[in-house]
Amino acid sequence: MNQRFFTNLRFFLLVFLLPSTVGLPLAISTRLHAQTSLPPSVPSSVESDATNSSEIPFLTYTPLSLPPIHALGSSNKTLFSHFITHKYPTLSSLPLSAITTSNVNSTHLPSLIPFFKNGTLLLSSSTAATALRNSLTASHNRTTTAFERLLQTYSDRITTVAFNPNNLKGYLAASYNETELKILSKQIKSSNRRLFRPPSAPLTASLRDLLSFFKSNYAYYYSSCPSCTCESDFLGFTVPNATESSLDATSTRCELYHCASCHAAGRPATSRFPRYNNVTQITITRKGRCGEYSVLLYAILRSLGANVRWVVDWRYATAWACHTFVHTPCMLALCSHVCRSDHVWVEVWIERRWVHLDPCENAVDEPSLYQHWGKNITNVVAFEVRTWRGVITDRTSVYSEDATMREESEEEVAEGEVRAEKRFTRRVRRMRWGREGGELI
Ligand SMILES: [Zn+2]
Repeated sequence: MNQRFFTNLRFFLLVFLLPSTVGLPLAISTRLHAQTSLPPSVPSSVESDATNSSEIPFLTYTPLSLPPIHALGSSNKTLFSHFITHKYPTLSSLPLSAITTSNVNSTHLPSLIPFFKNGTLLLSSSTAATALRNSLTASHNRTTTAFERLLQTYSDRITTVAFNPNNLKGYLAASYNETELKILSKQIKSSNRRLFRPPSAPLTASLRDLLSFFKSNYAYYYSSCPSCTCESDFLGFTVPNATESSLDATSTRCELYHCASCHAAGRPATSRFPRYNNVTQITITRKGRCGEYSVLLYAILRSLGANVRWVVDWRYATAWACHTFVHTPCMLALCSHVCRSDHVWVEVWIERRWVHLDPCENAVDEPSLYQHWGKNITNVVAFEVRTWRGVITDRTSVYSEDATMREESEEEVAEGEVRAEKRFTRRVRRMRWGREGGELI
């Protein structure tokens, strides 16, 4: 008799024995998007190479007794050489002239996926990662639209977030404040029961305290060297190594950085930044961006009994022009014409409405925040894991005052959301039955 058994039993009771009512409102969808603009705080080392849509730079180096090694998305041989020596430490130095330069187009991309999986292909830019991922999902989902594939990606991710509520509460009791935590937990439970009474101001105050703790304990990672704290150069994305995979099997990529100062001083110069979904790992490493920290806050609030949803913002851009809009490389975008995710945060159900919470910005109920950054919102979509179903809600109009119509037709968007939500629900049910990772571990 373990916790998962009782979770499954509860699911059985809810689905088969009880009326299927859930006390949360369905938000009204509005289908709007705005023009894109450059967000602030763009880490220069993460910006992608500008290139055209048909030709993608491709570098190859073939050692004498080792498998060939490649880089996609940049023609910078020096940065590629740092990846080569990181991958093959026995090659302490190599002539850049031995690296061959070519171009590939999108038709070649599927054949490169095995090289990424075995660690011999570096994705040198976010756009290269996007293009490769797109080629994979497009081949698997020929009948789905780009918009729907994007919805699938994010709903997949939130259902693979793994956390143990009791462990998280224990962590918070030790690192935050046990008394404050008990107060917050009581306030959340009280708020959940409060259907008709006036809202609770103390709960908002408690959430502000929690986010202040968050902001002071979870620094936003840009590209600083872990050894000397100098800004380091972004080399690209590679697969997690065996250790990283053993810590989080759902992690699919790791960022590599190279520190010129450490390199000049003869110290190890290449550092790794695995992108974890596992909440425990995030609390251990305390290294992340909006992706990690929004997931952690999501898990913390769910552990405390709150109704929470994960909110994703992404914007449109022409293929290979996406680099202009890259804010963080924390997410995968899937489509040639849809830019990557720009930011993620959470919403919590209090005071009879969904309230915006941004752990990276220490922001509570400030939905206009992102417009103040000088960027217009293209798409904001909330993903909610309920007891037995997944819910996708368009929130663009809440975060954007200056919206224009989407590229897709209303029908295409509506159809995409319905189909993605059905798939999302199937995943949530598999998760409840213990057939998918996520929630309880
Ligand atoms: Zn350094």
